[in-house]
Amino acid sequence: MPLTETQIKSLQGRADEIKARYDAFVAQGLSLDMTRGKPSSEQLDLAEPMLASVPPGDHTSPGGVDCRNYGGVDGLPEMKALFADYLECAPDQILIGGNASLTLMYDAVQQALTHGVPGGDGPWLKGTVKWICPVPGYDRHFTICEHFGIEMIPVEMGEGGPDMDQVEALVAADPAIKGMWAVPRYSNPTGATYSDDTVCRLAAMKAAAPDFRIWWDNAYGEHHLTDRPAPLSNLLSACVAAGHPDRALMFASTSKISFAGGGLAALGASAANIDWMRLHTSKRTIGPDKLNQLRHLRFFGDIEGIRAHMMRHAELLRPRFEAVIRTLRRELEGSGLATWTEPEGGYFISVDTLDGCASRTVALAAEAGVKLTPAGATFPYRRDPKDRNIRIAPSLPSVEELTVATELFALCIQLATLERM
Ligand code: PMP
Repeated sequence: MPLTETQIKSLQGRADEIKARYDAFVAQGLSLDMTRGKPSSEQLDLAEPMLASVPPGDHTSPGGVDCRNYGGVDGLPEMKALFADYLECAPDQILIGGNASLTLMYDAVQQALTHGVPGGDGPWLKGTVKWICPVPGYDRHFTICEHFGIEMIPVEMGEGGPDMDQVEALVAADPAIKGMWAVPRYSNPTGATYSDDTVCRLAAMKAAAPDFRIWWDNAYGEHHLTDRPAPLSNLLSACVAAGHPDRALMFASTSKISFAGGGLAALGASAANIDWMRLHTSKRTIGPDKLNQLRHLRFFGDIEGIRAHMMRHAELLRPRFEAVIRTLRRELEGSGLATWTEPEGGYFISVDTLDGCASRTVALAAEAGVKLTPAGATFPYRRDPKDRNIRIAPSLPSVEELTVATELFALCIQLATLERM
């Protein structure tokens, strides 16, 4: 929406004051980092006792597996049962990976390219491969596609997921479209959760490629900021019901539950897809870190243990999100200069400036010592065609730091807008 006369006059009338406030921040020599969604050390401390849950001499799983040894390429049965509850599927529809779901997603892309997927006609690399990328989205998803030369097709995200009319039309028309990214709950960065209608349409839509797959990255499945979890339908069940049982590859991890660098990742999918993943995984490892699986099992116990733990995370995260939102409202509400999301979970707040102001805003913030995710990062090839989206990651800094950084950020938005007038 263009600015009204009143909004323009108000901004221009405060230009000197805005510049003076910005200069005062520069003089302070701040050094704050809001670039990535890293848990704070207080969050990591919550899982510290987990490290003591497998003491020397006590390393046998409930099913009698000596977790120190090789084997169990798809994970301990008890861990599969826990992730089955997490991803709402059956234990034999689960494969446990290493410490990062990103690795599982990457491996699945690579295997599809080099060997093809169940029900397909061979390696995807034989032809051009294209991918549906909801935008704004997660930069590391886009990096995987770029790394493999996959052509990315952006589709705009809305409140209940991507524009499904566009997704359906694209996927039905082009057999080169083999895959799609999705962060279905509290998406990175907008915080949107896919509606039931979106999930149904994704499961049922006609795909020109018979081996089309959805990389369903449920990274924030239990990461609520309120006590009213956003409802999310299960893609795998919807795909089975729609006659496309192999379409869904569902990923999750405990990176933001236990430790970001020492958690566990899992894939939930049809038996055919799990067999496919197990086969390829067994070529690159003789077995995952089962001691870490045992640690997680003993510490969390079951899905309810995870949920109780996540409430403690929410208590640490909520004030941080509130600090950013309170400051954005105080500095920018009614100005017409920016809109932002106020998510109910996940790790990010997504801000849209007026067109053409995002990169300058990020540069001005950097000059004053506040590092933000580079403008454009939330788009394929780092190109935001409107140069307006900025992702804020409030988890790591303290409430005080976030308040200062957001005030500065709001000043940078105003300065960047003034420069374009
Ligand atoms: N997916 C999304 C949407 C994320 O935001 C993140 C972390 N920023 C990841 C995956 C990374 O997960 P992992 O640590 O399990 O690789």
